[in-house]
Amino acid sequence: MRLLLAEDDPMIGASVQRGLRQEGYSVDWLRDGREIAPALATTIYDLLLLDLGLPGIGGLQALAQLRESGAQLPVLILTARDAVADRILGLDTGADDYLVKPFDLDELAARVRALLRRQTGRVDPVIRLGTLAFDPATRSASLAGQPVALSARELALLEALLEQPGKPLSRSQLEERIYGWGEEVESNAVEVHIHSLRRKLGTQTIKNLRGVGYFIPKAD
Ligand code: CA
Repeated sequence: MRLLLAEDDPMIGASVQRGLRQEGYSVDWLRDGREIAPALATTIYDLLLLDLGLPGIGGLQALAQLRESGAQLPVLILTARDAVADRILGLDTGADDYLVKPFDLDELAARVRALLRRQTGRVDPVIRLGTLAFDPATRSASLAGQPVALSARELALLEALLEQPGKPLSRSQLEERIYGWGEEVESNAVEVHIHSLRRKLGTQTIKNLRGVGYFIPKAD
C-alpha cells in the first residue's frame, strides 16, 4: 500500500512517515500543496493524508481540486483546527475522515486501515483467499491457520496481490506498491520476493501471466 502524505510540519511529517512505514506502508511525503496534484498524476496512491494548513495551496483547496478532477482515493485530514465547522467543511469537501492534532500514531494507523478496507469494499478486517489469510492490523499472514513468517516487503507484496485477486500486477506496479520515493529498488527485487513467497506459501499460490505480471488466482 502506497500512501501520500502532505504535511509541512517537519516533526509531524517525520513521525507520521516513520510510524506508517513501520506499519508496512510506503509513504511519500511532500510539504507544499502545489505538489499534490502532480504526485497523484504520476503515481497511484491508495490514500492521501492531508494537512489543511499547507503552503502553496491549502489542504481544502487541494482537496476540492482533486475531487473535481475525479480522484477517488480516500483522504484523511490531519488538522490542528478542531472547530466543528472546519471538520464539517473538510468532510463536505470530499474527505473521508479526519484526525485532530496532536493525535496518537496507533489511532492514525487504525483509521488508515479502516479507510483502505472500505476502499476495497471489504468489511472483514482480515483479507482471506482460500486458506490464505492476511491481517493488515498485525501485519501477519497465515496459511490453513498456521502463521507464516514473512518479511515486511513480502507482506506488502502479498497484500497488493490479495487486494485484487485474479488481476495481474506488473513488476513496475508491484515496485510502486512496495517502495517509496528515494528507496533503492534492486532490478530483480520483485522476482526475489515472489520466489520467496512461493517457497513459503506454495508454488501455485502466485501465478505469472507472461509479459503481463503476477497475480493470485481467485478462490473457487
Ligand atoms: Ca501545516
